[in-house]
Amino acid sequence: MQIPGAIDPVPVPRSVPARADGRTDLVGLSKDEVRTELEAAGVVNAKLRAKQIWHWIYNRGVTDFAAMTDIAKDVRPLLAEKFAIGRPEVVTAQVSSDGTRKWLLRSADGQDYEMVFIPDADRGTLCVSSQIGCTLNCRFCHTGTMKLVRNLTPGEIVGQVMLARDALGEWPSHPEGRLLTNIVMMGMGEPLYNFESVKKGLGIVMDGDGLALSKRRITLSTSGVVPMMARAGAEIGVNLAVSLHAVTKEIRDEIVPINKKYGIDELLSACAAYPGANNARRITFEYVMLKDKNDSDEDARELVRLIRKYKLPAKVNLIPFNPWPGVGYECSDDERIARFSDIIFRAGISAPVRTPRGRDIMAACGQLKSAAEKISRAELDRRAAEKEASWETAAA
Ligand code: SAH
Ligand code: SF4
Repeated sequence: MQIPGAIDPVPVPRSVPARADGRTDLVGLSKDEVRTELEAAGVVNAKLRAKQIWHWIYNRGVTDFAAMTDIAKDVRPLLAEKFAIGRPEVVTAQVSSDGTRKWLLRSADGQDYEMVFIPDADRGTLCVSSQIGCTLNCRFCHTGTMKLVRNLTPGEIVGQVMLARDALGEWPSHPEGRLLTNIVMMGMGEPLYNFESVKKGLGIVMDGDGLALSKRRITLSTSGVVPMMARAGAEIGVNLAVSLHAVTKEIRDEIVPINKKYGIDELLSACAAYPGANNARRITFEYVMLKDKNDSDEDARELVRLIRKYKLPAKVNLIPFNPWPGVGYECSDDERIARFSDIIFRAGISAPVRTPRGRDIMAACGQLKSAAEKISRAELDRRAAEKEASWETAAA
């Protein structure tokens, strides 16, 4: 399937069916779209009503039209009959001994996806999913073994943040003293393969009348969908993280197979051109530490050389690999990770080691959903092969 233009071919096997109750969910619709929906439903004064409803939804966290006290009492039942203000259904919600929370969420059409909240002393980061499954199959990532079911909608993307605010008791929405301060698009899926929905969902998250979170507090992580990176910078404008994970073609081809399509040089050139990246807003390079695979001193020195060559305002996030049943890799030893970090750090580039969080609740990419699914190793291999084949056809 070849989609014309700058957007890569993205197989989306399923679209989102309507709600079973026939109501239209207003979460994820722009103010203008809400207005159009209200007009179609025969609501008078639709422009003002849309503005009021938006305020109730995104500033106050209200899910019930009856609570919208500045909307005439006789209009509210009509709204409730035609419209809904939904939240993802919670399948499981777990809290780790270190305070990390993990949710398995279910969409209206019965598909499961994940969300994680990581509290720190001075911030709280919500890890948001962009797709159910992923079309790519990075070898160390559990999400990569799942099929792409479908892209998440803008409403499902912003809905994750709203559900987290519900759980943390953070309505009304005000920037002072809240726990949820940052968002990373690092849950399930490749956000740049669901560009329009991510753009629209994050647009509502960043809108002053929406969830009003600054773009400086949002980071989008990509495995390297080079043709979409400039648009992400220009049209979404959030911080960029790149899942680099290897510095040679041979190893990156193996562990991050999109590298066969967009190689390291192309990727780093796109990083150098990323709008808004500067010393105050650095690009984060994520690097998962895999024993005897990508963790040598030589790899660290090559990483420094590449960052210098492309003059990148960069920091490196070293991620201890979080293993899962059936994976063919191990995490590097602590000493190896420390040495790797040290080489980069001595070159003047920040290279913190991310402390694994929420291990007791398996709060790592793709693990909760699959723990529920229990896929066999043979099935994992079959799915990976199938995906690679479809991906190669798409790339042709
Ligand atoms: N698809 C995007 C964003 C989601 S993945 C991307 O690849 O950037 C978010 C991050 O989690 C990526 O850096 C990914 O490499 C990392 N990750 C995935 N599985 C992991 C594992 N088992 N252990 C440690 N990090 C993992
Ligand atoms: Fe998809 Fe990111 Fe996992 Fe790769 S690391 S399979 S791009 S979710």
